[in-house]
Amino acid sequence: MIGWVLKKILGTQNQREVRRLTPLVGEINRHEEALRALSFDELRGKTVAFRERLARGESLDQLLPEAFAVVKNCCRRFTEEKRKIRVRGQEILWEMIPFDVQLIGGMVLHSGRIAEMATGEGKTLVATLPTYLNALSGKGVHIVTVNDYLAARDADWMGEVYRELGLTVGCLQHGQTQSERRAQYACDITYGTSSEFGFDYLRDNGMATTPEDQVQRGHFYSIIDEVDSILIDEARTPLIISGPVTVSTHQFDKYKSIIEGLVRRQNALCTDWANQAKERIEKGDLQGAGRLLFKVKMGSPRNKLLLKFQEDPGTRRAVDDAELEMYQDTRRTELYKTKEEMYFSIDERNSEADLSEMGRTFLNPNDPNFFSVPDLITTNHDIDSNAGLSAEEKLKAKAAAQAEYEEASQRIHNISQLLRAYCVFEKDVHYVVQENKVIIVDEYTGRLMPGRRWSDGLHQAVEAKEGVQIDRETQTLATITIQNYFRLYEKLAGMTGTAETEANEFKDIYRLGVVVIPTNRDCIRKDADDLIFKTRREKLNALIEEIKKRNAAGQPMLVGTASVESSEIISRMLRRENIPHSVLNAKQHQLEAEIVARAGERGAVMIATNMAGRGTDIKLSPGVAELGGLHVVGTERHESRRIDRQLRGRCARQGDPGSSQFFISFEDDLMRNFGDSRKIAGLMTKLGMEENEGLQHPWLNRSVETAQKRVEGRNYQVRKHTLQYDDVMNQQRTVIYAWRSDMLNSTDPRPEVFETVDERITSEVEARAGTDPVDLEGLVHWANSAMPVGLQKEDFQKVGGKEEWAKLLKEKVREAYEVKVKFENPEAVKALERFVVLGAIDRLWQEHLYAMDGLRTSINLRAYGQKDPLIEYKNEAYGMFGELMARIKEEVVHNLFRSASSLSAFESFLSALPQRAGRGELPMQAQAQPVESDGSMSMQSGGGSTLVEEVLAPIKRQGPKLGRNDPCPLDPNKKFKNCCGATGSKGCLKVGA
Ligand code: ADP
Ligand code: MG
Repeated sequence: MIGWVLKKILGTQNQREVRRLTPLVGEINRHEEALRALSFDELRGKTVAFRERLARGESLDQLLPEAFAVVKNCCRRFTEEKRKIRVRGQEILWEMIPFDVQLIGGMVLHSGRIAEMATGEGKTLVATLPTYLNALSGKGVHIVTVNDYLAARDADWMGEVYRELGLTVGCLQHGQTQSERRAQYACDITYGTSSEFGFDYLRDNGMATTPEDQVQRGHFYSIIDEVDSILIDEARTPLIISGPVTVSTHQFDKYKSIIEGLVRRQNALCTDWANQAKERIEKGDLQGAGRLLFKVKMGSPRNKLLLKFQEDPGTRRAVDDAELEMYQDTRRTELYKTKEEMYFSIDERNSEADLSEMGRTFLNPNDPNFFSVPDLITTNHDIDSNAGLSAEEKLKAKAAAQAEYEEASQRIHNISQLLRAYCVFEKDVHYVVQENKVIIVDEYTGRLMPGRRWSDGLHQAVEAKEGVQIDRETQTLATITIQNYFRLYEKLAGMTGTAETEANEFKDIYRLGVVVIPTNRDCIRKDADDLIFKTRREKLNALIEEIKKRNAAGQPMLVGTASVESSEIISRMLRRENIPHSVLNAKQHQLEAEIVARAGERGAVMIATNMAGRGTDIKLSPGVAELGGLHVVGTERHESRRIDRQLRGRCARQGDPGSSQFFISFEDDLMRNFGDSRKIAGLMTKLGMEENEGLQHPWLNRSVETAQKRVEGRNYQVRKHTLQYDDVMNQQRTVIYAWRSDMLNSTDPRPEVFETVDERITSEVEARAGTDPVDLEGLVHWANSAMPVGLQKEDFQKVGGKEEWAKLLKEKVREAYEVKVKFENPEAVKALERFVVLGAIDRLWQEHLYAMDGLRTSINLRAYGQKDPLIEYKNEAYGMFGELMARIKEEVVHNLFRSASSLSAFESFLSALPQRAGRGELPMQAQAQPVESDGSMSMQSGGGSTLVEEVLAPIKRQGPKLGRNDPCPLDPNKKFKNCCGATGSKGCLKVGA
């Protein structure tokens, strides 16, 4: 009902929007007609004229009709002169002039919304219209594609239009150097993938140390192609630049063998129950069997016997009944008791594992409590109400209780992740082991994802299970989610064939409206009802028969799968039948694009995971239309309806004939985990289902769709959750990056530096003056150890209260600084000042990120105690950020006088210091050890004359060449090869080293 109302509203709103834009189409076309009389040179001259008009104050909106007309007219000229364009090494004949619906799509993109346009409607061309218009501003338009190949293809192909009209086009590719990247961004238009754009942002703002190191020049307007894939599918994994941490806290290898024992016991138990269930079934006691099997499901969801029993709809329903019954509120205690009959229970939907008393006793017979979380609330309460304790003792006792609690949580978390690794994650389904590494298999596309890791210790748990090297945890050096990266743009737009089902999410998270653009010609695709089978085996057999039948008639087919594994199974079956076919796994983009383009040829059979060849057009070859066009078969319903629509949309483009159908079975993951199998089983009995025969009915489609909606909802929650956490980080990142960027780009950093120094002084004075009695001694000590001010207690006492103290300090520190810079080269001083701040920000921000990672993990653990983790997280993150800012300021003050652009300047400065200061008070003397642990650019004894370079070229990572066996400046107790060298870096990662 609600869906219907929504559709009604969306539908009419959408039509209204399209109608609203239609008059402009007429206007564009009139302009275009007028342009036909011009020479090509005159047409090119329009770009310059538009730019002048913009400079005189006209708006992009005002220019739109004429600018779109110029692009359209340029396309017309290309078509008429039969221009050939070299696209990725192949000649393509240009034969397209934007249709009216494409003009409307272009307007929607210009207005900062999502244009939903079906596959084959020519979105690549649509993007040129708003891109040309917005690029006139000179601020840079970024076009985001799903892979490097498409970025390069579109830059070659559409680039012809832009270049012809006098604009420059760039293209980001993985592996480009910094200066190459800069050149791409300097262009009016830049094509690239979302991760190239995102990582450049992180490098620019988290690592670059001079403006010349930065490659981007702002975030003005971006058009995202296949926007659902980028903003929804990819959004669950943030972009992270990371390095390894030095200490590891996990205990997976320690618990591995004992957990194996536990899992063995549990499996034996579950198999036993499954066998008992078999007896019950034979005796006709389906209900009893259902209860037993439900227990198996809780204890070992992937138990082979259980999966086999569930192939039978009757048994399946009995299990579901038992489950439903148990989850009723009135049965809570019984559910609890059932859980206590096994060693641990697993909730496959939430992917959680819980130890029972039995399990805890097995793991540690002497102290089962070792594996349960202490009740912190009661403990704290007891401590508070213990009259025998002093306030201090209470605090101590609470701190001890807290520490114990965290330790126990950590332990339980380790165990829980190991149990998941053993009982939920299956080798060759969820991951593969290659070259001693656990590599994740993407659940959506079947692609291997080398380099990605499950978070929260799960990856290490799986590594422990497989007995491969357990990788050290990595530390985040810089991170951003795709969502937050794209929120940086002043204007954002997207295009895809499938946005409508996710319209709410686009609206909520990105404030992007969706407008559905009508197709150029009516779509005549025939979508058949799903064909549903009891088992996967039956389904696949029927599928092969279907392929054989259509293939014999010569009709081309595209078979979409949900994973590489099922692509390969189907391929094996087809080989046995001697049916020639190709298999695509989204691994080699260019090659696959070329193969997919031929999927419309007579007799072609193409098996593809759903990402493979995306963005490539499938044209029908002559004679194929008469056979019914391309037929698409889905071998499984995807978790998300959107992906299914995407697959269907690959046929019947531009008015071509085409058809589609999905083959599904009760053993498919979607049905197993989210299907309302009770209802479906009921339907099946009602409709009469035979062995080896598929069933087809609109009701079944609806059931499947309900399951999909359920998963979509859950996945949306997951993404929103990630975002809520990242929002906290995002605010902090914005503050830090803005500060950093100001410093980086300021031509005179000194006022900024002193602002920081002043803030630090004020807060220190406030703190010292705020105690009772006033801590003047402390203030004097702090001042002299932080800055060479040479002030004594009496100097302060002479001037009065805290305002005056702060003022005095601020004056003195400026005087001292004047003395210092007298000996230096003014340009070098600027670089140095900049670097003092950047060095402090970078080092401490990275430390902060590490701490935030830790907070994130410990907060998740805290969910075991009854607190809202997000609120806890926000509170603590806020406090930590305050501390971070204070520490950065402290470090700036501290390093300002401990750095110099050359050794001689520093020595001159030292000898010129006021005698009174007593140089002993300055920690510079304490620098007998070559490098201070604070990682700043402290002066080093025996530093030599190369210091200027070192100082001026901080995080560059290519500083002076270090021998592999030289001590590493980051940790002088280690050799370089074992310290920073081990990360693959050519130089020490220590700031300023
Ligand atoms: P989409 O990204 O919307 O799926 P593409 O941009 O890949 O579609 O274009 C599909 C095909 O349609 C391409 O072969 C392209 O050459 C063709 N095409 C696009 N626009 C036009 C047009 N106005 N006239 C003729 N052919 C067009
Ligand atoms: Mg496309």
